[in-house]
Amino acid sequence: MKRITSVIGLNRILSAYRKQGLSIGFVPTMGALHQGHLSLVEKARKKNDIVVCSVFVNPTQFNNAGDLAKYPRTLKKDAQMLKSAGCHILFAPAVDEIYPPGLDTEVHFSFKGLDKMMEGKFRPGHFKGMAQVVKRLLDLVAPDDLYMGQKDFQQFTIVAHMLKTLKLPTRLVVCPILREENGLAMSSRNERLSADLRSRAALIYKTLKAAKPKLKTMDVREIEKWALQKMRVPDFNPEYFSIVDGYSLKPVKDFHAHDYIVACTAIWAGDVRLIDNMIFKKAN
Ligand code: AMP
Repeated sequence: MKRITSVIGLNRILSAYRKQGLSIGFVPTMGALHQGHLSLVEKARKKNDIVVCSVFVNPTQFNNAGDLAKYPRTLKKDAQMLKSAGCHILFAPAVDEIYPPGLDTEVHFSFKGLDKMMEGKFRPGHFKGMAQVVKRLLDLVAPDDLYMGQKDFQQFTIVAHMLKTLKLPTRLVVCPILREENGLAMSSRNERLSADLRSRAALIYKTLKAAKPKLKTMDVREIEKWALQKMRVPDFNPEYFSIVDGYSLKPVKDFHAHDYIVACTAIWAGDVRLIDNMIFKKAN
């Protein structure tokens, strides 16, 4: 595996691969890698000749300086894990490489309101920053395929919208959520949970699972209230539990009127913010 930190270095190596007609799969991450991230690398290895993984803690998507400072950084271990997973290129740039002074990297397209609800309400500016870094990385890597996790449902929905709106030639491959043994969605932030909270955080997945069958018999808003109530236990503080249309991310009223429905939730476990989701309905 090659470790690259500069845009010029990345350009050089990728253009050589492209000249050989090799396809490129790209996995953007913020590091502190776990099996969930590696499942994306594995998927890319199956489909693409060359797998590029970026590790970059993007400052523009943090609306809270404390959260940015606390974000775990474990580059040495990440590199080892990526090497074992068969990644070909680790791109780990400094902030100045991604955002060089004088370069306008802001994105200019309409989010069509996809950034306003759920995470957008609680993390203002988050998706603008996320779209900015993904667009910049796509410009640099120009992959055939981009791999993202269903774990960040609103994120991949916005990226899919961006690819379509800007007519970018990259295909988005969405990969399933990998979970710990107790059902907690794997996340870099889980490392910051005490053993007790980590074990009790299984409540999130349990609530999602229990809510799903209720959709056929109970009013959607009542299910949301029920789920919030169930997760309001000592040390846990849910921010939202929203049952939304999987395409527009707008609240679902009538179960029958939608063919794609997802429940998304965010909850504080102590001082760690966790998110999770589950697809409740999807027509093939
Ligand atoms: P992050 O480093 O948290 O920005 O995540 C990088 C990518 O890994 C995103 O596309 C995430 O959706 C994906 N990812 C994070 N956690 C998981 C998980 N538990 N299972 C599958 N993919 C994940």
